[in-house]
Amino acid sequence: MDKNYSTVFIVRGFLWFAVPLGVIGWLIGFFWQTLSLGLLAILAWHYYFQYKLVDWLWNRRTLLPPSAPGSWSYIYDGIYRTQRRSQQRRRALARILRRFREASEAIPDAAIVFRRDGALIWCNKLGQFHFGLKWPADTGIRLSNLIRHPEFISYLQKGDFSDEIYLPSPVRDEVELEIRIMPYSEDQYLLMARDVTQLRQLEQMRKEFVANVSHELKTPLTVIQGYLEMVNEDPAAMPPALLQKAVTDMVGQSTRMRNLVDQLLSLSRMDSARGDIFDKVVPVPDLLKRLQRDAEQLNTAKQHELVFELSDQSMFGHEDELRSVFSNLITNAIHYTQPEGRIVVRWQPVGKQMEFSVSDNGPGIPAEHIPRITERFYRIDKDRNSSKGGSGLGLAIVKQAIDHHHCKLSINSVVGRGSTFIVRVPEELVVGKPAA
Ligand code: ADP
Repeated sequence: MDKNYSTVFIVRGFLWFAVPLGVIGWLIGFFWQTLSLGLLAILAWHYYFQYKLVDWLWNRRTLLPPSAPGSWSYIYDGIYRTQRRSQQRRRALARILRRFREASEAIPDAAIVFRRDGALIWCNKLGQFHFGLKWPADTGIRLSNLIRHPEFISYLQKGDFSDEIYLPSPVRDEVELEIRIMPYSEDQYLLMARDVTQLRQLEQMRKEFVANVSHELKTPLTVIQGYLEMVNEDPAAMPPALLQKAVTDMVGQSTRMRNLVDQLLSLSRMDSARGDIFDKVVPVPDLLKRLQRDAEQLNTAKQHELVFELSDQSMFGHEDELRSVFSNLITNAIHYTQPEGRIVVRWQPVGKQMEFSVSDNGPGIPAEHIPRITERFYRIDKDRNSSKGGSGLGLAIVKQAIDHHHCKLSINSVVGRGSTFIVRVPEELVVGKPAA
C-alpha cells in the first residue's frame, strides 16, 4: 500500500474539508446547515466515483482506471495493480501451458492424460493419430469406450501398471504400440505409447537370422561329424571306397560352410562399411572379362551357351561389391538353368545410364517369390539339403551392394521360359559419356 495513505491521511483530508466549512457556517450563522450541505456534497462525490469504479470494472474494456482524486485514486490504483498482477500471472501460466503442449507435441510418443475413472483429459497429436482420438471433442469420455481393445480394457481395469503392454494401433493394424501408464498426480494418469513396429520387426529378423545361420551350419557339421565318428570308431575297418566318399563329402560340406561364412562376412562388411562410392573408378569391362573366364570354368559341367556383350564403359563404385553383384547373378544363372541352356550377359548403355543384365532360359521364378527373393536366406527350394539350393544369401548380397550404389534391380521372369536380372546404374556413377 502507498505509504501516504493512512488513517491520519483520511482524517486530515476530512478535517481540511469540514473545518473551513464549519468556520464559514459559523461566520454566516448557518453552522449546521452549511455542515450538512457540505457532508451531502461529499456523499454525492463519493457516490459519483463509486459509480465510475463500477462502470470501469463492468463496462470498460481497458485495464487503465479512470482518473480519480483523493482517496479514490488509491482505490483505483490498487485495483489496477491487482488486475495487472493477475493478468501477468495468467500470461505466465498460459506460457507454461503452451510450452508444455509444445514439448508434449515434440516427443515422439503418444501422450494421453486421463482421470482415475478413465475419463480423457488431454492427448497430444500422436495420441490422436495412433488411437484415433479427437481432442477436445472426446474430453470426459472414458478411455475404455474410446480404445476398445480387450487387452487394453483389462489392463485398465486391473490397475496394475508396473509392466508395459503391446497392442496393435486401433486405427492402423500394421502399427504395433508399446503402452505404459504412469500415475502422475493424485487423481491423474499419463499414458505414453511408442511405435515399436520397426523394433519388433528387427527383433524378429534377428531371431530368424540366428536360426537360419545355425541351421545352415548344422547340416554340413552333422555330415562331417558323422563321417569323423565312423573313422574314429575303427579306421582300419572302413573300406577305401567309403573313405574316399567320406573325404569328398567332407570337403564338399566344409566348402559349403566356408562359402556361407564368406557370404556372411561380406554382408556384414557391407553393413558396416558405408564408404563413398565415388572414390574409385571400377573398370567394369575388365572385371566382367575376368568373371567370364571364371564362368566358363564353372560351366564345364552344364555346357551352357555363354554370351558376353560388353561395352567399353567404366563406373564409379566399390570393386569388391560390384564383383559380388555380377558374379552372384552370373553364377545363379549357370547354377539354376538346366544343362545346355543359353545365358546372355550384357553391359550396355541405356540413354545416359548403364545397364548390367543376365538373361537365362532356365526354370524362371514364380511371381509370388520375386518380391521376397532378395531377403536374407530366402530360397524357392526350401529344402536345405537339396543339391540345387545354396544358402539363400547371394541375392541378399546383390541387393545390398546395389542399394549402396543407388542402383536399381529389376527381375523379369516367366516360369518355364527363363529370367532376366537387370541392374540399372544411374548417370552419376557412369564415368564419362556412355559409348552408345
Ligand atoms: P542361393 O544361394 O540359394 O542361390 P540366392 O539369394 O542367390 O540364393 O537366390 C535365391 C533363390 O532365387 C534361389 O534359391 C533360387 O531358387 C532363385 N534364383 C536365383 N537366381 C535364379 C535364376 N537365374 N533362375 C531361377 N531361380 C533363381
